[in-house]
Amino acid sequence: MDSCPNCSSERYIKAGVVKNRQRYKCKSCGYFFTVGKLGKQIDDYYVNKALQLYLEGLTYREIERILGVSHVSVMNWVRKYNIKRPYNSKYHPTYKILNQSELQQYFQNSDNITGAGVLVTELGDKFMLIKWERFRE
Ligand SMILES: [Zn+2]
Repeated sequence: MDSCPNCSSERYIKAGVVKNRQRYKCKSCGYFFTVGKLGKQIDDYYVNKALQLYLEGLTYREIERILGVSHVSVMNWVRKYNIKRPYNSKYHPTYKILNQSELQQYFQNSDNITGAGVLVTELGDKFMLIKWERFRE
């Protein structure tokens, strides 16, 4: 894959996985397209993101919904890389998926960030915000 099928631009970014196919978004025209079958060879990017989310306390099903990779794949990666979560899973994070301007608005409201840990991670063309409220009574 070297250009957008809509406008032939070579500027595109990863924008999720749909049915095991890498999806891209053209930065020039905004067109979404998928290429090839990834099969078992899903990009490392998603392996890393999935394991990251797993460590943040998300369930396999949540990770499946967010990344578009099957929960079975995620379970396999967790096993393969021998990822262990800390024993205490009492705190379940809440999360939102926001674009850049929504993210700015979110941080402008101090109520959103007071008394909670917030972690922002890139997710395709958006950002995922994971919020911990463990210090709130
Ligand atoms: Zn394009």
